[in-house]
Amino acid sequence: NDVINRIAAGEVIQRPVNALKELIENSLDAKSTNIQITIKNGGLKLLQIQDNGTGIRKEDFEIICERFTTSKLTEFEDLQKIATFGFRGEALASISHVAHLSITSKTKMDICAYQAEYNDGKLKGQPKPLAGNQGTVITVEDLFYNMTVRKQALRTPSEEYQKIYDLVTKYAIHNPTVGFALKKHTSSNDLRTPINSNHIENVRLIYGNTIASGLIEFHIENKDLEFNLKGYITNVNYSHKKYQFFLFINNRLVDCQGLKKSIDAIYQTYLPKNNHPFVYLSLELNSYNVDVNVHPTKHEVNFLNEAEIIESITTALEEKLLGSNS
Ligand code: ADP
Ligand code: MG
Repeated sequence: NDVINRIAAGEVIQRPVNALKELIENSLDAKSTNIQITIKNGGLKLLQIQDNGTGIRKEDFEIICERFTTSKLTEFEDLQKIATFGFRGEALASISHVAHLSITSKTKMDICAYQAEYNDGKLKGQPKPLAGNQGTVITVEDLFYNMTVRKQALRTPSEEYQKIYDLVTKYAIHNPTVGFALKKHTSSNDLRTPINSNHIENVRLIYGNTIASGLIEFHIENKDLEFNLKGYITNVNYSHKKYQFFLFINNRLVDCQGLKKSIDAIYQTYLPKNNHPFVYLSLELNSYNVDVNVHPTKHEVNFLNEAEIIESITTALEEKLLGSNS
């Protein structure tokens, strides 16, 4: 049975960056304003995330690594979350099947922090009290120690680290009020954004001044189609090192090939060959219109009125781009 669970977990967590994405989302769900990530050996030796969020209550330590259970299920926002992304509760459970997982956490109410270790979905022993600040530290060590084949299929640690770096830059740009720090275990910080920054400032920190000053901000609202789109794109004169396109839907980093293709097509029309745009989109949809059956491994999202919404977004962005150029 452990073998079956491990195979299923390996489907959810295919490489270090998948684990980190889930952990970052958990920290953001817990309303953290400061998220610090430490990586060793591309995330295979160590992947640690420390936040200053709401924390985990002592009595919840028992269940947080069981599949499909979460402590927060009774709260309204979780009903919303279920409506948006499907009810999952699989991330910590999955990680515990393919790595050594340790969690330290303190809530506002508790007088001390608690630390616990997990193996194959189960708490080992009892949570140990210790001193600590409010928030959570999740330590994932020796990822895929029990999955030799999976481990061999991975890229080099530096390539895995690059995927992690790219992921953190996207979350940092999307969540500028949250301070992010990413560092390799040995070196100093490789990425740091301050608390209470803004989108453009974070783009500047990550990509440099040229791109940040060439950004066009936009906000499109459509009441009929029930969507709201904000974001930043570079104008047609600007060329980025490589094509950057990233999309958040209801604050989750997702893929939507249809939308991406339509936006690619606009830039192909107006941009000189070999010029690369930067496109960051944050789309808010009525959560009841987003496909609830998104599996953690499937980042592709489907939503109601997809074709009409894409059409409407593409038209508006094309106008923006042309307007900025004249
Ligand atoms: P889900 O996020 O879908 O509920 P996870 O396995 O990712 O499932 O997390 C399980 C539960 O553990 C969460 O619902 C939450 O209650 C708790 N949790 C995980 N990470 C954190 C964190 N950083 N801060 C506070 N609570 C957390
Ligand atoms: Mg989660």
